[in-house]
Amino acid sequence: MKKVSYLPILASLVILGACNNKKDAEESNESFSSANPFFKASELAFQAPAFDKIKTGDFKPALEEGMKQQMDEIQKIADQTEAPSFENIILAIEKSGQLLNRTSMVFNLLTGANTNPELQKVKEEEAPKLTANTDAIYLNTKLFNRVETLYKKKDQLKLDAESLRLLESYYQKFELAGAKLSDADKDKLKELNKEEATLGAKFTAQLQAAGKGLKNTTQQPELQSMADRAKREELFNKSWNRAEKGDANDTRKIISRIAQIRSAQAALLGFKNYAAWKLQNQMAKTPEAVEDFFSKVIPAATAKAKSEAADIQAVIDQQKGGFKLAPWDWDYYAEQVRKAKFDLDENEVKPYFELNKVLINGVFYAATQLYGITFKERKDLPVYQEDVRVFDVIDKDGKQLGLFYCDYYKRDNKDGGAWMDNLVPQSKLFGTIPVIYNVCNFTKPEAGKPALISFDDVTTMFHEFGHGLHGLFANQQYPSLSGTSVARDYVEFPSQFNEHWASDPKILKNYALHYQTGAQMPQALLDKIKKASSFNQGYIFTEALAAADLDMQWHTISPGSPLEDVDKFEAEALKKTNLNLSYVPPRYRSSYFLHIWSNGYAAGYYAYSWTSMLENDAFSWFQENGGLTRANGQRFRDMILSKGNTEDLGKMFFNFRGHNPDIKPMLKKRGLL
Ligand SMILES: [Zn+2]
Repeated sequence: MKKVSYLPILASLVILGACNNKKDAEESNESFSSANPFFKASELAFQAPAFDKIKTGDFKPALEEGMKQQMDEIQKIADQTEAPSFENIILAIEKSGQLLNRTSMVFNLLTGANTNPELQKVKEEEAPKLTANTDAIYLNTKLFNRVETLYKKKDQLKLDAESLRLLESYYQKFELAGAKLSDADKDKLKELNKEEATLGAKFTAQLQAAGKGLKNTTQQPELQSMADRAKREELFNKSWNRAEKGDANDTRKIISRIAQIRSAQAALLGFKNYAAWKLQNQMAKTPEAVEDFFSKVIPAATAKAKSEAADIQAVIDQQKGGFKLAPWDWDYYAEQVRKAKFDLDENEVKPYFELNKVLINGVFYAATQLYGITFKERKDLPVYQEDVRVFDVIDKDGKQLGLFYCDYYKRDNKDGGAWMDNLVPQSKLFGTIPVIYNVCNFTKPEAGKPALISFDDVTTMFHEFGHGLHGLFANQQYPSLSGTSVARDYVEFPSQFNEHWASDPKILKNYALHYQTGAQMPQALLDKIKKASSFNQGYIFTEALAAADLDMQWHTISPGSPLEDVDKFEAEALKKTNLNLSYVPPRYRSSYFLHIWSNGYAAGYYAYSWTSMLENDAFSWFQENGGLTRANGQRFRDMILSKGNTEDLGKMFFNFRGHNPDIKPMLKKRGLL
């Protein structure tokens, strides 16, 4: 996952333990001064955040002062009397808000990966103000008039391609944000935006409280090994109903209101629903294109899931279970089917996937083979938690390309799932190189024991590092077009593409080494992993499509619809698109679907499947052209990974692949053809 960092809603808290003494926090809450670590850009290498100096109490004053400074800057840009030029409008906007940006980036990381109640409170308080701040920029009539004047004569400006793209992208942002609305409608939109932001932050806080001890997906890893059916059912229901208990953390009222707010926002902007509005600047462009994509893949996915269910039911019957397959049985019996059909036991595999070896000899090694970059751990930079590691990333010519932070272990004060983001964006304008981080949720081993992870976890590491490469190879003038600042239905393309290298024979041989003996994984086991890669794909694809489809249906409700009954809406939505297989629940239920209610993936969860089409098609180009080679890697780096959002994304893909995205390589990879 890639957190959408331009969102005004910021993810979750910082524990800065000992250095956070109460007196300091109180003082720094009062005012913003040069003593605040965000006062100027960090003086550490590559502006790495000074985590050893940052205190929880520093965020509120820095965010508030940051918003104030940006407002002053924006007002000056709007009030100018000279004729609008690229420099005095677009470039000036791009340069505004530096204090806010550098504070938000650290705030985003800590509220998501290492939260505490105080920081959470700041987030809830600041979320609506940050939204109002963004609104004040994009709904500023005077400013928009100047942008529009400039936009209308864009062809006479003789701008370079990237600058032209920046102008076009700002114009579209203003337009989609409602800059053309009447003042009365702008006020209505601002109110709706503010309420949405407040509810989104509240949703996150409630879900964090409701989901303690649970993985944020419907299925829980423990189910795979639970022999007691009643206990399985109990755990499943705990997960399924986590946010539907009718208590203070029940999220249903919030989400039905958010859906209603979003349809009202779209109506104000003149769109028939929220998805139609939000897809304007995406690769897919319309909800119809997404629905068409769904209609092509749902039959293949559900047919495969049904045949997998039949295999599982056969095992249940063979064992005289005397019951019909339910969702809480799936993983337990699927594991037995996997053992029987593929003779592959997770416990046999895990000793070969020791986290550190996977990182150094796998994830990093693959990047060296493909792109010529190398990595060196450094211990001199402060981190926000003792398990976090930092690496220098060195380019093929010996130049520093960026910094890479990784935080792999699950903690109670961390959001579920895995994600990547920047702490410092790459930009030639500001002379900055990328500072990138990956956050995951792997089980931390006991002291002195190795972290042995599953092949799924291995894949997650390659995935998040794929986002990392997209950020690290960024080579843009402007930060807002840099690296992973691309459409949601494109951003998961480089990350999912990078997953392929986890099972490349050359890479596997290098990292899949027994943690005790150092022996390579036996060929027979490698073959089994490869063979088993199509295992359970019907289930996996169907649960993802069910979630994506729920998202799309929540965001295509008509403006003026009453508040929906969440459970009824969900059941009917899944039935309508034939995704209501009783034994394949959606990967995220509406009531705990963090992606869409507060993490920037509203009307965008389809992006994972859409980009799966892109990455499999791109990988088939590699297969047709010699696979893992430096030359192929360089071509991918030059044509995709280093380009950020400087070109039309469909065109970028076409140029690399030589044709528009084809669905077949994805279906083939998943064993659905
Ligand atoms: Zn991702």
